[in-house]
Amino acid sequence: MGIATGLYLQRDGWQVTVIDAKGPGEGTSSGNAGMFAIGHITPDAMPNLPAKVPAMLLDRESPLSIRWRYLPRLIPWLAKCVSACTTEQATRSTQALAGLLGDAMASYKPLFQSAGANDLIRNKGVLYVYRNSKSFAAAELEIELKREHGIRMEILDANGIRELVPALAPVHSHGVLYPDYAHTVDPFVLTQTLGVRLKKAGAKFVRSHANGFSYEGNLVSAVKTTDSTHCADIVVVAAGAYSRPLAAALGVRLPLDTERGYHVTFADPGIALDLPVLAADEHFLMTPMTPGLRSGGLVEFAGLEAPPNPALHTMLASQTKKLLPDLNTENTSNWMGYRPAMPDSLPVISRTPKHSNAFLAFGHGHIGLTSAAATGHAIADLAVDRSPQFDLRPFRAERFLNET
Ligand SMILES: Cc1cc2nc3c(=O)[nH]c(=O)nc-3n(C[C@H](O)[C@H](O)[C@H](O)COP(=O)(O)OP(=O)(O)OC[C@H]3O[C@@H](n4cnc5c(N)ncnc54)[C@H](O)[C@@H]3O)c2cc1C
Repeated sequence: MGIATGLYLQRDGWQVTVIDAKGPGEGTSSGNAGMFAIGHITPDAMPNLPAKVPAMLLDRESPLSIRWRYLPRLIPWLAKCVSACTTEQATRSTQALAGLLGDAMASYKPLFQSAGANDLIRNKGVLYVYRNSKSFAAAELEIELKREHGIRMEILDANGIRELVPALAPVHSHGVLYPDYAHTVDPFVLTQTLGVRLKKAGAKFVRSHANGFSYEGNLVSAVKTTDSTHCADIVVVAAGAYSRPLAAALGVRLPLDTERGYHVTFADPGIALDLPVLAADEHFLMTPMTPGLRSGGLVEFAGLEAPPNPALHTMLASQTKKLLPDLNTENTSNWMGYRPAMPDSLPVISRTPKHSNAFLAFGHGHIGLTSAAATGHAIADLAVDRSPQFDLRPFRAERFLNET
């Protein structure tokens, strides 16, 4: 988010300084599943979510888990999430996300072009697979909403699935092919490549931990880090799941939490997938990448401090092997990352209410890779009061103001 925003600000002539405690793309953006999920327009906070969650939490093979010790800290976030699970809110959020994601690839295009990153992108689509009529029926609303918003799709039966992805075990009765999705063969290298472009065009990179701001009247005048101070005409907070204290320092208390996600990458898979496959029942995506075949997904609520749960990596690897019986599982690497998660499933893309030269760009949950360029584009528009490409009102910080 920070790199894409920097690139868009730079296009408007701003002199950009990126302050990051790590190198470009070394946060959650390093290990995601690589999908430009342009059709992920329905929020997680759907009306049927509260009814599904208890059974999911009791199922040991479930894609959703919680560290019970973390529950007391999560309760306010969960309460807000449940209150967003109404038909009215889900309809509004779908409309909002359709706007954001509708601009996703158009906003990436000039960035890929100028960074020479097109080689890292594949336009193969994605195949969603469902084990039975029940799980397919459960996705009916989501599929219908995608269709209504013009996302192209093709419904497949068991034979169609086998023809498209012969490596899959013959356990799926229904599939949906979305031909217009794209994926990257390496999200880490992609972010680094965009970062190199930003640097070459004159941006300064400071490896330090930002911990506050200086002010002149109502304006922010500098970003303070543990060892330096950086004067600024405008500031953008894009620190992913770690953005909450920085936003609070700007006077915006927001209910940002994290949905931790896991990946296992099979370095020598021994099989080839021509396109990514999303196992809808197990809720993870298998993406063919340069580092290998990557299975990425799951949601764990456990905050920012607890170590990864090795049982979730084991589960992800074993579920992948069940779906791809010929997969070689000998050479794997495990990773866990922190999706920045807002309870209403909408990111914050906003000017701050108190300081007209401070902006927020975080909380993109499951779609941060997809929506980074569109977000950066929007922040650059906000910074110069230009009309944005899509309606930014649903993403304003004010929707939660003084609620936390
Ligand atoms: C398993 C998994 C699979 C996923 N798959 C997909 C997918 O297929 N498609 C998709 O669109 N999205 C996917 N996502 C979501 C996506 O990865 C995230 O939404 C995205 O990476 C968030 O980007 P970000 O820039 O906001 O955060 P990050 O990438 O985490 O970047 C935040 C940066 O801020 C820095 N930082 C934090 N605090 C400070 C501070 N105080 N001072 C200085 N620097 C700081 C960090 O060092 C880091 O570099 C997936 C996520 C996971 C976990």
